[in-house]
Amino acid sequence: KGCTLNCAWCHNPECIHFFPEIYWKQSLCRQCGRCFDVCPQEAVQPPIALGREEENAHYYKIDLSRCDRCMRCVEACIYGALSRVGEPKTVEEVLQEVERDMPFYLNSGGGMTVTGGEPTAFPDFTRELLRGACERGIHTCLDTSGFCEWEVLDSLRPYTNIFLYDIKCLSGKLHVMRTGVNNSPILANLRRLAECGETIIVRIPVIPAFNDSPEHMEKVADFLRGLGPSVMRVDLLPFHNWCQDKYRWLGREWEYRDVESLPTSEVDDLLDIMEEHGLKTTIGG
Ligand code: SF4
Ligand code: SF4
Repeated sequence: KGCTLNCAWCHNPECIHFFPEIYWKQSLCRQCGRCFDVCPQEAVQPPIALGREEENAHYYKIDLSRCDRCMRCVEACIYGALSRVGEPKTVEEVLQEVERDMPFYLNSGGGMTVTGGEPTAFPDFTRELLRGACERGIHTCLDTSGFCEWEVLDSLRPYTNIFLYDIKCLSGKLHVMRTGVNNSPILANLRRLAECGETIIVRIPVIPAFNDSPEHMEKVADFLRGLGPSVMRVDLLPFHNWCQDKYRWLGREWEYRDVESLPTSEVDDLLDIMEEHGLKTTIGG
């Protein structure tokens, strides 16, 4: 949990921050006030007077600016309206969970995907996790934005069978505006992985009015074709708004809340562009 990018359209808002958070599900809240009673920070605000127009005005609400995430309210909420998002785990604990699914991996040909947030933000943890999986004979994938020092990716290569590598857009300026970071290291790291002969699946979120023009996709296709045979596949991931509940549960605004999901049919032309460049491409992965 925790990401070094801050993509405006993020589909996994619970993975942006590097700390545990709290979901509040209004439909389960009985307004019992237990959360208010136990909060040592006075972060739980009592319902405001009936008749006011604020959203959820009749419910207890957490003021995140006062909350220190002690989770006492979550423990006190017997109706399941509050839940913790993000648990600390050791590498060994994660591997034990993975091992429980070993028979499934062996039968299905599946394996372990380390994802986030951004796994390269935790290089030691990620390396040990991947190494542990390799030692157990489990196939490994690393799902990454590629926004990290090359040395980090390089240190993960020996334990990674497939890199799932996100590309958002080729314009540096637009990339900074919509993700908060420069794309130069991302593109440079992808080139180096390809030069090393790694197996790479490139994943492209297709975001309306950001990177969904045929002209832009032509440029991306040219770039990817230039990387050679390391790119085994391109997955186009159409924007969807199914995650809007998660933003609501976290008490956060989302500028894409009213943007319609992109139907698969609207991405067909972009898939054709990729395939015309000789790139095996799927919609959705
Ligand atoms: S303890 Fe749970 S059910 Fe009770 S008011 Fe708080 S969030 Fe709602
Ligand atoms: S996590 Fe702790 S500080 Fe935050 S609202 Fe709940 S009880 Fe209060």
